[in-house]
Amino acid sequence: VEQTFVMVKPDGVKRGLIGPIITRFEQKGFELAAISLRTIDRNLAETHYGELKSKPFFGELVDYLTSGPVCAMIWQGPHAVENARAIIGKTNPVEAGPGTIRGDFGMDISGNIVHGSDSDASAAREIGLFFDRDHVA
Ligand code: ATP
Repeated sequence: VEQTFVMVKPDGVKRGLIGPIITRFEQKGFELAAISLRTIDRNLAETHYGELKSKPFFGELVDYLTSGPVCAMIWQGPHAVENARAIIGKTNPVEAGPGTIRGDFGMDISGNIVHGSDSDASAAREIGLFFDRDHVA
């Protein structure tokens, strides 16, 4: 079964968007395989976004991700990675179309509400960072 890693970022959790985001994944046809609400430390945030280490906004991104609880989830179903990215929308909410999570709920790239894995390899890596096997359905 194909799986992807999705994380409601701290701004999404603070704004009460866990429910609407879960609803969209369920309505699309995804099946929930794991869910965990937790505050992540800088080490995990830096590892998760390791490929962005050289970007000028990296420090700000790690501050943002560790500023409050995140809701980490594994969603599964056909073409899980591509289907999740389609309902999440483009990275910048300014460009994300209406009907997408970022397009409907976000205003600015520094608060884009949700993360979704960009490939099957990233999904496997990110699932391994956030979940123990015995917490997956
Ligand atoms: P994510 O990995 O969170 O799903 P993405 O794959 O759509 O997002 P990336 O280019 O991997 O986009 O960027 C990762 C995250 O870094 C973005 O979601 C956003 O929070 C942040 N980010 C990206 N570009 C910028 C920027 N120019 N300024 C501030 N933050 C940014």
